[in-house]
Amino acid sequence: MIISENAVVLFHYTLTDEEGNELDSSTGKDPLAYIHGHKNIIPGLEKAMEGKKSGDVMIETIEAAEAYGERQEQMIQQVPRTSFQTEDMQVGMRFEAQTPNGPVSVIVTELTDETVTVDGNHPLAGKALTFDVKIDTVREASEEELAHGHVHGKGGHQH
Ligand code: ZN
Repeated sequence: MIISENAVVLFHYTLTDEEGNELDSSTGKDPLAYIHGHKNIIPGLEKAMEGKKSGDVMIETIEAAEAYGERQEQMIQQVPRTSFQTEDMQVGMRFEAQTPNGPVSVIVTELTDETVTVDGNHPLAGKALTFDVKIDTVREASEEELAHGHVHGKGGHQH
């Protein structure tokens, strides 16, 4: 079958950035599983998958807007050091910040004696991403998978 709304798709991928650095890969692991048409994966990749079938390969470069979005300056904030409970802050530390819109994963990008600069942008925001994809399996989703909104079994949830 071909990939269309409600198909379960298992695929292998290697993800590289604009400089050709490998960011992630499923090589040597289970393929990634998702249900097509449910925004389980980034929009640009989901569009590229439409109409493909098992065994198909493709290399697709997806602009930031269709991947993890553009970087947003308002996601970068300076916070007084006194608002942290630990003295032991380091550039590159990640933690969850509570915001009015719920918890956001942030990274410490700069430190002074008084302030901590944190960046809540997704690490891949603002980047064009290239996916080297091989489609492993395309099948119908079960009723249960559609009800849960995710894939069960290989590459998916084990419950
Ligand atoms: Zn489930």
